[in-house]
Amino acid sequence: MKGKLLVLGFGPGNHEHTTERCKEAIVESDCIIGYKTYVELIQELITDQKIISTGMSEEVSRAQAAVDLAEQGKKVAVISSGDAGVYGMAGLVYEVLVERGWKEQDGVEVEVIPGISAINSCASLLGAPIMHDACTISLSDHLTPWELIAKRIDAAGQADFVISLYNPKSGKRTRQIVEAQQILLNYRSPNTPVGLVKSAYREREQVVLTTLENMLEHDIGMLTTVIIGNSTTFFYEKRMITPRGYQRKYTLNTLKQRLKPHERLKRENEPWALHGGQEEVTNTASQKVQKEKSATAVQTVQEEVSATVVETDKEESRLTALQTAEDALRRIDERNGISSKNVDTISTANKVESIFELAVSPGVVNKKFTPKQLLILAEVIGEKGTMEYTPHHQILLQIPTSEPGQVTEQLEDAGFLLSPIGDVISVKACDFCDGEKKDSIPYADEIQDRLGGLDVPKELRIGFNGCGMACYGAVQDDIGIVFRKGKFDLFLGAKTVGRTAHSGQPVSEGIEPDKLVDLVESIVKEYKENGHPNERFFKYFKRVKRVKGFQYQDVAPKIKVEPAPCGD
Ligand code: SAH
Repeated sequence: MKGKLLVLGFGPGNHEHTTERCKEAIVESDCIIGYKTYVELIQELITDQKIISTGMSEEVSRAQAAVDLAEQGKKVAVISSGDAGVYGMAGLVYEVLVERGWKEQDGVEVEVIPGISAINSCASLLGAPIMHDACTISLSDHLTPWELIAKRIDAAGQADFVISLYNPKSGKRTRQIVEAQQILLNYRSPNTPVGLVKSAYREREQVVLTTLENMLEHDIGMLTTVIIGNSTTFFYEKRMITPRGYQRKYTLNTLKQRLKPHERLKRENEPWALHGGQEEVTNTASQKVQKEKSATAVQTVQEEVSATVVETDKEESRLTALQTAEDALRRIDERNGISSKNVDTISTANKVESIFELAVSPGVVNKKFTPKQLLILAEVIGEKGTMEYTPHHQILLQIPTSEPGQVTEQLEDAGFLLSPIGDVISVKACDFCDGEKKDSIPYADEIQDRLGGLDVPKELRIGFNGCGMACYGAVQDDIGIVFRKGKFDLFLGAKTVGRTAHSGQPVSEGIEPDKLVDLVESIVKEYKENGHPNERFFKYFKRVKRVKGFQYQDVAPKIKVEPAPCGD
């Protein structure tokens, strides 16, 4: 009978974190081979198997013994902690098999059973430090030249990987971790978060949160895994967290992503990606332009010329992997405000730079920008931000920053009205004939004060016009308010966009001014509480049929509003 090798990792140490298949494999085997301490750790799972346990540096003889026994027809469990394929026994077992000319067809059966590796178990105790691109590096130089290990630390440090150091230190190997720290300090802030986890999910488990600068002041041993954050990792409530990406979007009042999942991957929403937010031009022409941009500092005019005359030779125009990596590194450095390897100036490292989105306008009523405001806008946007003119009397700003507070302060000081982006209320008023028809202005201002920027199930526009001409199109907004003969007319449920767009239904005429703001607020409140997520106001009105006593008309009502010449 053919024997079998069951090469398994039992996880960090407690059996809740050992897989079912691993437990079965132990029971199924005739004998168990492993390092003494590990055999002790799985004692409870062992039934009547023969045990062969050896010392720490006897891995090769363990692998050989396991193969010998399997060749004699035995089912042999070869045990590792964590995962057998991560600095464990799996590779060694295969090496021995390869040396003996093993062939799958007639050789012993081999099953490698996955386990939870230290990088995963330790990360879970720290919070979510891995999250982004990460690597494991073993500091053990027993079988690997230190020069190579140092090179890997250097490369990982440069490329901003989260790094998980295995075998960081032992009784005799004490210098490696000091060297590793020194190398990483060439690239990362001394404040970079570091997590030290000792004996994860075992007795005497220990979790320490520290920094790259201070990590050596703590106990690090053979049972410790050292997890070093990248330039965006941060501590929060005793957790170590690495954000999912380098660029996050947020707006004034909501953490909710403005972009829906399918929109997030659109090129224009990822200006930081390799494609630079641009559509693919024929073949690889855009890449060629990008390549030329990074290769030589050619002038913009020259780039434009080369973009038009570029020939689409594939070999020539494809970015090499090295260029791509260098470009990414340069961007990380730029973001940290450093030129490569100059760490002294990193004071803002570990502050997450995100894309801050908000909309500005001169005011609800005021439509006039001052030259000074435009100068401030230019300054705040800088080289990397964008300004977009929208159909809603607002300029949409996208500003990469780690200091949103500074941005809002500057804009507010310049007299801008700031509005959040997303599913919020925006108030759009007319210019009240340049302020001449000013009687209803205070009501527009109060509606903005009370309701502007409020979260709602779906973006909602309140249109406010100061006379019966309604020339700013209030009746085309979700909620339309028109001031006429000292009182207000109210329109609800316009479909604001699409080919089936329609005006709101006139639900009330002659509302007393002192009732208006409370009424609008109560309509909004009802919609906010009862509207389904993403349900536009007109759909809500159509569904519930009655909002604050106003009846939805299935057949568009014949509008019998009084004639209102401009000025009434
Ligand atoms: N195969 C194992 C790794 C073996 S190398 C795995 O996948 O996890 C041994 C190193 O792993 C230790 O020096 C330590 O850095 C790490 N390690 C293993 N188990 C650990 C635990 N329970 N807690 C913290 N670190 C652990």
